[in-house]
Amino acid sequence: MLPQASRAAAILTLGRWFSARSRVLPWRSEPTLYRVWISEIMLQQTQVVTVLPYFERFMQRFPTVEALASASEAEVVEAWAGLGYYSRARNLHRGARQIVASGFPRTREGWIEIPGVGPYTAGAITSIALGHAEPILDGNVERVLARVLALSRADGDARFKARLWKWSGLLVRRAARLEVSPSRFNQALMELGALVCTFRNPKCAECPVRYVCAAARLEATERFPGKKPAKEWVRVEEIRHAWIARDDSGREVILMRRQAPGEWRAGLWDLVPEAPAIGKAALLGEIATRHVVTRHKIERTTKIWSVSEMSAPPRPQKIGEEFAWTPLDQPGLAGSASFQKTWKSLREFRIGSPR
Ligand code: SF4
Repeated sequence: MLPQASRAAAILTLGRWFSARSRVLPWRSEPTLYRVWISEIMLQQTQVVTVLPYFERFMQRFPTVEALASASEAEVVEAWAGLGYYSRARNLHRGARQIVASGFPRTREGWIEIPGVGPYTAGAITSIALGHAEPILDGNVERVLARVLALSRADGDARFKARLWKWSGLLVRRAARLEVSPSRFNQALMELGALVCTFRNPKCAECPVRYVCAAARLEATERFPGKKPAKEWVRVEEIRHAWIARDDSGREVILMRRQAPGEWRAGLWDLVPEAPAIGKAALLGEIATRHVVTRHKIERTTKIWSVSEMSAPPRPQKIGEEFAWTPLDQPGLAGSASFQKTWKSLREFRIGSPR
């Protein structure tokens, strides 16, 4: 499977292809440990084009690990708002505090101790920022290696992954001996998966490693890597209340609550889960929304209230609970993905209803 001489030639060709064709990305032009770490966490489950503006803004707001560590968790979550998978932001914040206390890890094992960093991210950080010959295996690399080597999940996912990890290590070490740096080689594999060896319609005719690719030779790229095991979905039913009032200038405002520490989506703003006893209100209607977050299928019912008389401002019931009235047309607070979805439907409901 992949003779030694072809392997060496493919590694060298891939290295040259990356130097000539790779995208210019801000974490590539200045690959410090801090910037590579932040970019790799942002890139988990998220595409480069989505990450780019967030990365720039995040770097402006937290230019160093010290700045990130000294911010509050709420500030970090706020800077993350819109990127989703918020546990990543909370882990970054905890990781920054750990790094400030004991320094940046210099090994793959050391990075795995940082919250939110798994084997793939640790390999990416140490190879890109430190030049260590460490393996990586994200979705893109998995697809490229599976096709080049004609390896399929059909034999079992765990066995399939173990074989690819082994190949990834073997190839990056061979690349280092051929003076293709681990940083360049690993990023070349990722880039090839993102730009050429795509999930659908891979561009085999322009691929630098086509002459060693078993899937291309078999004209069976769609067979590799094969289907992922089905996700186990968790169904979540939620009720929220949209309390709508008018502020002194007559603008419509809505009552928001920041999720308390320890709650799901902690630090993010959402509608209130219970109708608070704060005055007189009339029920205008209900909207139903559905969306998916990681492995959760969320079905949410939102009751819409028009507040006519306010007797008291909402009071926190739990430690860390916080409320705010914010303009309905522009909430301006870091809302969870569930809130964003509800807010769109709520706006349509208000626009469609007589005021
Ligand atoms: S030849 Fe085609 S299938 Fe093989 S690695 Fe290149 S793009 Fe992917």
